[in-house]
Formats: sequence, structure tokens, C-alpha cells
Amino acid sequence: MLDRIRIVLIGTSHPGNIGGVARAMHNMGLADLALVAPRCVPVTADSVSRASGADHLVNAARVVETLEEAVADCTLVVGASARSRTLPWPMITPRELGVRLPKELAGEAARLALVFGREDSGLTNAELQRCHAHVHIPTNPDFSSLNLAAAVQVLAYECRLAWLAGQETPDEEPGQPLATHEELEHYFAHLERTLIAIGFHDPAMPRQLMARLRRFTLRARPERMELNILRGILSETDKRVPGQGDDKDHRHGE
Ligand code: SAH
Repeated sequence: MLDRIRIVLIGTSHPGNIGGVARAMHNMGLADLALVAPRCVPVTADSVSRASGADHLVNAARVVETLEEAVADCTLVVGASARSRTLPWPMITPRELGVRLPKELAGEAARLALVFGREDSGLTNAELQRCHAHVHIPTNPDFSSLNLAAAVQVLAYECRLAWLAGQETPDEEPGQPLATHEELEHYFAHLERTLIAIGFHDPAMPRQLMARLRRFTLRARPERMELNILRGILSETDKRVPGQGDDKDHRHGE
């Protein structure tokens, strides 16, 4: 999914910012950088230094004359804007952008372009109107404009979070079987017997003790192996209680 995301910078005037963008991209696992009519030489000592080891992205960047060329093959074009514009356009938050990505970028040919404007004047209305949607990073309204590389960082991070969410393994890893209902019930019965034997639990005055222990245990979704450890502890406890023992402990053939 991250391979299908292109960062497009229009009219950048500071090589250091291009380096900073390359670093932000490489940190987040993005690699496709396009520069539209840069107003500076992209590869300079400044850009290499700000890239901190990601300058290969600057060297590999495609330099084109127009936005159209940079996004021609993209199926979704999103413009990043620090200001609201006179003509309202579909607006999304950085988080919403991330949430949309798995679906938007599912197909082989799908491509997303995130378009960023000039340091001094941002994106023109004509450029913004070539985008499917605009994304605004919520900032202090009195000081809303982020540094170009910082803006790329925030959106690249949301892309990465969305990608990571898709990589997550399901909660219950296969391999360690969870305790069954029956095993849990045997455990609760054993626990209750032992708690009575050691004088911790008085069935005549239960005060919801067993219900609370049940809730606690069930919330933890214990594995069979974990439950066996707990039962082992109970069995050892039983052995040390006068009048209790292994024979009693296993009287139900558990
Ligand atoms: N002074 C310009 C902003 C330049 S910042 C202006 O007023 O428009 C350079 C680029 O970073 C912007 O064009 C935009 O693409 C991006 N950017 C900066 N702050 C942003 C924000 N809060 N939300 C979305 N994009 C932002």
C-alpha cells in the first residue's frame, strides 16, 4: 500500500525542505517523490544534510513541469492546504485520509498523490481544483501553516498508521489455544473449593466474590496453558490445607 503513495511538491524554493521531506518519507516507508517545477536545485549540501541519509529519495525524485504530469496515473489526488478556500471543496482530516486508504489503494493500478504547495504561497486555487479532496492538518487557527516537511511528516504518518493497522495479526494468535468454557468452569469450581478451604471465601456471605473473580478471569481470555498454571497453584495450595489434598482435588475427575 505504501508503494502506491506519491508525495508531490509544487514549486519548492528551499532545498533543505526537499531533504526534510525525503527524510519524513523514508521514516514512514514512502519512496515515491515528484517535484513539480522546483524553484531551487533539489540536490544541494542543504538538502543532503536535512535528508539525514534519505537523500537517495531526492536523487530518485521525478522532476516535471506541471502538476498534471506528476499525477497523471493517480486514481486519487489529495491536496494539502493550510487555509480554507473561497470555493468549498470536499475536505478530509488526516485521519479520514488514512482510514480511506486500504480501500482506495486496494487495486494494482491504484495510486494516491498527496500534493503540497509552495513555502510562501501554498497551492493555487487552480491546483487545488485538480484534487479530488483537500486535507487540512488541524492546527492553531492563528498559526496554521506548518513547515513543508512537517506537513508531509504528519500525512505520511497517518498513511503508515493505516498501513500498520492492516498488518495487525488477529488478537488470538493461533497456536496457543484459549481455555474452553468447560475448562473455565472446572477452574472456577476448583478456585471456589480452595478459597473456602483456606478460609478466604464464606459461601454463607459470598459478597459476589466468585462473580468478581469470574468477571476478572473471563476478561483476560486465558489460554488453556495459563489456566493449567492457575490450577497447579490451587492444587499446591490444597496440599497445604489440613484435610484437603490431591484425592479431593480431583474427585470430579477433572
Ligand atoms: N504560506 C502557505 C503555506 C505554505 S506551507 C499558505 O498560506 O498557504 C507549505 C505547504 O505545506 C502547504 O502548501 C500545504 O501543502 C502544506 N501545509 C502546511 N500547513 C498545513 C496544514 N495545516 N494542513 C495541510 N497542509 C499544510
